[in-house]
Amino acid sequence: MIEIKNLHKSYKMGSNALHVLKGIDFSVKEGELVAIMGSSGSGKSTLLNIIGMLDTLDEGSYTLDGVPIKDLNETKAANYRNKFLGFVFQSFNLINYKNAMENVALPLYYQKVGRKERQEKAMKYLEQVGLKEWATHLPSELSGGQKQRVAIARAMAAEPKVLLADEPTGALDSTTSYEVMDLIQKINDEGNTILVVTHEEDIAHMCKRIVHLKDGVIVEDKKVKQVRAKNYV
Ligand code: ADP
Ligand code: MG
Repeated sequence: MIEIKNLHKSYKMGSNALHVLKGIDFSVKEGELVAIMGSSGSGKSTLLNIIGMLDTLDEGSYTLDGVPIKDLNETKAANYRNKFLGFVFQSFNLINYKNAMENVALPLYYQKVGRKERQEKAMKYLEQVGLKEWATHLPSELSGGQKQRVAIARAMAAEPKVLLADEPTGALDSTTSYEVMDLIQKINDEGNTILVVTHEEDIAHMCKRIVHLKDGVIVEDKKVKQVRAKNYV
């Protein structure tokens, strides 16, 4: 599904450059649940943003579902991103003046799905994250965990090939974090491919594989026995 070879990325800082990713080799098969773990500043978000086509690479290659990303022009890249990738962020990124259902329906609007089907699909995904009763509530009326579940429903409503989550539990207390990870595990159980960026070891162990980033290189890439989050909720 994802194949990255010898990936390098630098940020320009005035006349200097900050070399953030220094030769990453990384691939992910369909159905995997992978944690990208590392301390703050190790390059996790940079890597995830490149995988998510929110940022570009300097050197190396990246192939997503058989398509070399470098070959796509901007419009094609945007279409490809909307069609193939779902995003979840630490800060939820919900639209404050839209209710839960409208937030979930939004990507479907961009996919030009008709109004009625949008609403039906949004309700279906809200139900899957256990928030059907909260459909007409605004984000400000939801707890942090509920907001993240709306964000996950929104990402899944577009039926992406890969779900990318950058510190999805970063703003949540531990019980709520486990609830969110329980949901991510369930979505993966259904066969969805998911990448979770985290700096927390216990969250990483709720994935099936841990890729450890340190100073821009992968220092360890191992399969782990998945800890089920619901045992902790
Ligand atoms: P992590 O997500 O692991 O905390 P990041 O990928 O966000 O790490 O950042 C890696 C390094 O790159 C950090 O030193 C950070 O300050 C720097 N960095 C990230 N984004 C930018 C940017 N847009 N411009 C300049 N430097 C950046
Ligand atoms: Mg980060």
